Amino acid sequence: MTATGQARRAPTSGDNMPAINGDRLWADIVSTASFGGADKGGVTRLTLTEEDRQVRDWFVDECRSLGCTVETDQIGNIFATYPGEDRSLPPIAVGSHLDTQPQGGRFDGILGVLAGVELIRTLKETATVLRHDLTVINWTNEEGSRFSPAMMGSGVFAGASPLSKIEAVQDRDGTTVRAALEAIGYRGEILPGHVGFAAYVELHIEQGPLLEAAATEIGIVTGVQGVRWFDVTITGTEAHAGSTPMDQRDDALVAASQIVLAVRDIARRHSPGVGTTGFAAVGPNSRNVVPGSVHLQIDMRHPSDTGLDQMQAALEQAIDALDARIVLDRIWSKQPVVFDLLIVDAVRASAGALGHSAIEMVSGAGHDAAHLAGICPTAMIFVPSKDGLSHNEAEYTSPEECARGADVLLQTVLQIDLK
Ligand SMILES: [Zn+2]
Repeated sequence: MTATGQARRAPTSGDNMPAINGDRLWADIVSTASFGGADKGGVTRLTLTEEDRQVRDWFVDECRSLGCTVETDQIGNIFATYPGEDRSLPPIAVGSHLDTQPQGGRFDGILGVLAGVELIRTLKETATVLRHDLTVINWTNEEGSRFSPAMMGSGVFAGASPLSKIEAVQDRDGTTVRAALEAIGYRGEILPGHVGFAAYVELHIEQGPLLEAAATEIGIVTGVQGVRWFDVTITGTEAHAGSTPMDQRDDALVAASQIVLAVRDIARRHSPGVGTTGFAAVGPNSRNVVPGSVHLQIDMRHPSDTGLDQMQAALEQAIDALDARIVLDRIWSKQPVVFDLLIVDAVRASAGALGHSAIEMVSGAGHDAAHLAGICPTAMIFVPSKDGLSHNEAEYTSPEECARGADVLLQTVLQIDLK
């Protein structure tokens, strides 16, 4: 099957480059926001709910009407494939996720899927035939707010988590992932991981303030930073706040405070690393008792493993230097992801060919692309988030910014297709 009309290869520079229709893309962003739409302009569309079914149905109908074959795998990932010239080549894939956080925005994830639909419309109306098939993907449960972990569908697809284990995960009401998939009619027949891709490119909003601060239009995302989580237990001695002299105290909260400051200073010394002490439990937590115990939870992130090693070593040193009984446990970690150089180059060249300002950046948040990077050449494109806000109903990216991102996505796909 080929696209109708006179087939032609698309130019990737000059005045004849095909361009997406920004008004049409914006109209889709506005209309799909009604599936789970909230008063303040945001969206509450938790994964595998009735609202999620509605937007999935819209996506499937729209892609079918454009001539795509639509398939769903057993974890509910949807693959809409628009045929290219050589069906024996692996498809080029684009996509993201249509689920949201509670009181989330209308751009996080959604932009990447709707831009994929707009790419197919553009190819069709300009009678542009790619060599490769183009597959637009909606990954199941990227957000992880109803079922944990996040990035569930892409994780199963990429082999990072076994389907049997993930299907059995329950939400707070005891509903399993499998039952929720069946309830909305999106547990497909296909085994996850059924297809290999020539490349995967994900357009996403930045969810941070860097592009806006740099007055830059496009983020060329070179990877996703790694994460290490630590638990710290500090044991002191509970004592009377009135009758215990200052030089005879073993105050666990004072020691904890020094650790909180150390985490901040270590992150500042290891830029672009970040470090957060986000949780503290004080025992007994009473005004007139010298604290006898504190439990801290620390999150450290850096784009490189070396950076993470250095930050961890500095934390261990800072703790050793304190005169207190402290136990440090590293309870979880996630390796940094480095995206494919050629695909990153294609994003850079595409932004340049379109005359858009662009900077390289590392994603601070996790994305489906991080799983895909383990199985095929992958990169991401970021567009600005107003005030850096995301996971918030006030999340906003302008129609022009969305259109620029989708155009860079289209040019990137056209460049990859030539290789
Ligand atoms: Zn997202």
